[in-house]
Amino acid sequence: MTAVTFDVDKLAAEYNDKTPSDILALAIEHFENLSISFSGAEDVVLIDMAVQIKPDINVFSLDTGRLHPETYQFIERVRNHYNIQIDLMSPDQKQLEKFVQDKGLYSFYQDGHQECCGIRKVMPLRRALSTLDAWITGQRQDQSPDTRQGIPVMQKDNAFSSADRTLIKFNPLAGWTSQQVWQYIRENDVPFNELHSKGFASIGCEPCTRAVLPNQHEREGRWWWEEATKKECGLHVDNIKK
Ligand code: SF4
Repeated sequence: MTAVTFDVDKLAAEYNDKTPSDILALAIEHFENLSISFSGAEDVVLIDMAVQIKPDINVFSLDTGRLHPETYQFIERVRNHYNIQIDLMSPDQKQLEKFVQDKGLYSFYQDGHQECCGIRKVMPLRRALSTLDAWITGQRQDQSPDTRQGIPVMQKDNAFSSADRTLIKFNPLAGWTSQQVWQYIRENDVPFNELHSKGFASIGCEPCTRAVLPNQHEREGRWWWEEATKKECGLHVDNIKK
């Protein structure tokens, strides 16, 4: 079945209360050409579940060039632990060189993260998604009360679909809490980023991520100099429109 014949709204309602593994099984059964987007703890939970259904599941990750050393080590640990290929998507070299020449390495502290994220994340993501019918993300509703509260377990990706190609986005952990994610990680010996042991909750690029205090919301550790309603890097812009 292709994205065109996949009734995503009907299935989203039907699968709303099903387990993440059930949602992954549906995605894998219906879309041969799909991939898991990997960066954080949630994504490894999804990889852990998905390899039990399809051991050679496709996985990609965005290498912005600004990640922490711990994150690069984490990517390698996941690659080796599951014996999977992880396609690392890099920014366009010419575009990035011009941007850094024109604006330096820290312009986002002055004029916002959108331009840098556009070059380092969104364009490489667009390239990765251009060949896919569906992708799988680790988004959860409780990650952000401002931008993620309404995300369904699956949806048409309005940001990256085109007139002649419908892209489906699966969010199997949409209804899970952070506690459920970490319980799964502990019970199943799932690899995680060492930065989590140093107070980091939501981890992105090194200059734009900081540790949070106990009871501080995880999203407060990202782009802390910007308004909460703008804290999406462009990978899930549908969330902002809502
Ligand atoms: S998170 Fe920060 S460093 Fe990373 S791409 Fe966005 S603005 Fe650039």
